Amino acid sequence: MQFTVGERVLAIEQGDITRQTTDAIVNAANSSLMGGGGVDGAIHRGGGASILEECKAIVSRRGRLPPGEAVATGGGNLSAPHVIHTVGPVWHGGRSGEPEVLASAYRESLLVAETLHLKSVAFPSISTGAYRYPVEQASSLAVRTVMNFLRAEADSVTRVVFVLFDTATFEAYGRAVASVRSSPVD
Ligand code: ADP
Repeated sequence: MQFTVGERVLAIEQGDITRQTTDAIVNAANSSLMGGGGVDGAIHRGGGASILEECKAIVSRRGRLPPGEAVATGGGNLSAPHVIHTVGPVWHGGRSGEPEVLASAYRESLLVAETLHLKSVAFPSISTGAYRYPVEQASSLAVRTVMNFLRAEADSVTRVVFVLFDTATFEAYGRAVASVRSSPVD
């Protein structure tokens, strides 16, 4: 499914993000950047050792990556030439700044893509797996944050795709796009 945001495109599809051929794929990493389960594990497995080597160098230079921030490495053996690693919030009920941190994870990832002059970026559903952010709320915030960026801030980035692994998550993002598009532009 594709939607236009001005002259830019927001798409959602169901699948495995490691197979994307976008300029960058985003990793829902943890602050250690040392790999983990879920999409993080899949990206490190698919990309090979060079991604972990670059992550180690980043952590030794600047320390652990705080939630809401983003850094880039190469894509190693993946089809995507770049991986943008970000850290979403762990869900603690929603009153501990989770929405702000989640929005920041999306926006900072897009700013990293702009710094690298990339055109297309693929996102997973950040924080809705092991980090337990409710997908209905996360999808709505993710879609609004990316749409606002495409509308108001994007320069090099012309296409963003959400790659959702399972049907329930894919359907939640479909509902989020439908509801954002039917509400007035802010
Ligand atoms: P977090 O720790 O941020 O919650 P997870 O990796 O546990 O991250 O889950 C985030 C989302 O990524 C979940 O919807 C999960 O099903 C999904 N996911 C897992 N593997 C992949 C993959 N290969 N491609 C796309 N999404 C994936």
